[in-house]
Amino acid sequence: MNIVLIGDGGHGKVVQDLVLLHKNIKLVAFLDDKHSEVYTKGNLIVGPISFAETVMGMFQNVKFVITIGDNKVRKKIINKLNLPHIYYATLIHPTATISPSTTIGHGSVIMAHAVINADSYIGDHVIVNTNSIVEHENIVGDFVHLSPSTTLTGACKIQEGVHIGAGATVIPNIEIGQWSVIGAGSAVIKPIPPNSTAVGVPAKVKEKHKMGEVLVNQIKNKKILLSPPHLSGNEWKYIQEAIDTNWIAPLGPNVDAFEKEMASYLGVRDAVAVSSGTAAIHLALSLLDVKKGDTVFCSTLTFVASANPILYQGALPVFIDSEPETWNMSPEALERAFRDAQLSGQLPKAVIVVNLYGQSAKMEEILAICSRYEVPIIEDAAESLGSQYKGKKSGTFGQFGVFSFNGNKIVTTSGGGMLVSDDVNAIQKARFLATQAKDPAPYYEHSEMGYNYRMSNVLAGIGRAQLEVLEERVNAKRVTFLKYYKELSGLPGVRFMPELEGTLSNRWLTTLTIDEEITGISATQLIQSLADDHIEARHVWKPLHLQPLFKDAKYLSHREHTSISETLFMTGICLPSGSNMSNDEQLRVIESLKKAILQRAKMTHPISG
Ligand SMILES: *Cc1c(COP(=O)(O)O)cnc(C)c1O
Repeated sequence: MNIVLIGDGGHGKVVQDLVLLHKNIKLVAFLDDKHSEVYTKGNLIVGPISFAETVMGMFQNVKFVITIGDNKVRKKIINKLNLPHIYYATLIHPTATISPSTTIGHGSVIMAHAVINADSYIGDHVIVNTNSIVEHENIVGDFVHLSPSTTLTGACKIQEGVHIGAGATVIPNIEIGQWSVIGAGSAVIKPIPPNSTAVGVPAKVKEKHKMGEVLVNQIKNKKILLSPPHLSGNEWKYIQEAIDTNWIAPLGPNVDAFEKEMASYLGVRDAVAVSSGTAAIHLALSLLDVKKGDTVFCSTLTFVASANPILYQGALPVFIDSEPETWNMSPEALERAFRDAQLSGQLPKAVIVVNLYGQSAKMEEILAICSRYEVPIIEDAAESLGSQYKGKKSGTFGQFGVFSFNGNKIVTTSGGGMLVSDDVNAIQKARFLATQAKDPAPYYEHSEMGYNYRMSNVLAGIGRAQLEVLEERVNAKRVTFLKYYKELSGLPGVRFMPELEGTLSNRWLTTLTIDEEITGISATQLIQSLADDHIEARHVWKPLHLQPLFKDAKYLSHREHTSISETLFMTGICLPSGSNMSNDEQLRVIESLKKAILQRAKMTHPISG
């Protein structure tokens, strides 16, 4: 890794010494606007901050750290550089003691002899200075500066931009509001509101300042999205290759490599990259010879894309309810659907099983039932790339597995999909059908109807870079879930989507249900209340058997008169879960949710006296 430090002052010098202790990190430039011209000092480039972009072009794998102690200045520079998170390095002094259960954000620096204990979160661009102690379960927001020998004793919440002076101590469970300043040597034993200066033992608020409020309001109004794309930084490399070699076509080396990399990651024999997840499902149905008048069983609690291809083939969907432990296809309802089908003399041609929000369906039970009736499974793993079921990768259980790389999915190519299988001949046939079913002849000859479903070589390049960081993304999504869970699972009437024992969910979206009778607020009202705070949350999928499009389709509920999917739809909401969501953004979501739920609870059950 090549490091560029921005901020050639006292703090910069100390970080420079820290960098020299790491053999695998090379300091290549020191930028600061006090240097008006670019020159070299030995191997080191010195110059103004505007030279940053040029330095990125000069070296591979360049990462930045802003080495300026002033939190506002640090934030201003970050805003100006406007680079993805991944371009900022996290630097840790070898003598620092850091619990493996902590999370430390990008651009943060942990100095000599600092201690960070269990389950603490350190945001982005934070300075944990020499000899500071961050005990267990503290949350330290972005752009915080803990001066030398600061102590956070436990479960403190230090909001964005807070500056804590040297030697100050914060007792457990205390929150310090955004952009506040704590004087050196202070003892903070009461919460400190935002934008305040507090000093003394015990610390008392001395003045309120306006400066921070402008920043805070700007941040408050920034919209937090459900699951925006999160690029890794390597996408350009593959796109550049495609452009340099003029492979601007569907097919090409990136497509071949992306297919191989996916197959090898999943442990399947073959994979074909296509233009969308929907196209992949369509090809699977086509390969299973689903025709007009056939029936196909399909999970009801899903996006319409799972079932649209059934209609493309002129077949009839039969929708199967969810069960409560995974929210996915109920084996009980599936069994009843098969019994009904057998009585009527028409078994389905295929069963489409969806793994919702990253949670795998009960594959063992579903596989057993389907194999008894000898009906193939198409596993719609559009939302569960990176998840596991009993140690095996999600999407590898059926005859076919389907993935989507739409913009909001855990790996994106802006738009795209993949069909995978151990049946190499079937994937070969899918490749043929997806390329207009062009016969192997010296001229354009076609004996079968085909589709134009292949993935572009440029987009496959994006997919390759995204796949490289999949594990990181899964970890980030799971940490996001855990933070929500820790803060909200104690609220009465709130329940999170479970994770079935023996499975690992990628937690693509953190999803919970809200009991209106207990909380006094409905899912719809809660989504509106979050929207008022510029936070995007969404309803759980509306079950397909309730869609006007499928009003004539057959539906089997989990148990008679018990529809799980309908209840989940009425009560479920998906929370912002972007793997690039900052700590502070997530705190905003949590505060907004708590505010909405607790306010209503008070209105519904007024406490007298
Ligand atoms: C996104 C999604 C699809 C479809 O993928 P596209 O690439 O958008 O066509 C299919 N099924 C589920 C469950 C999805 O979430």
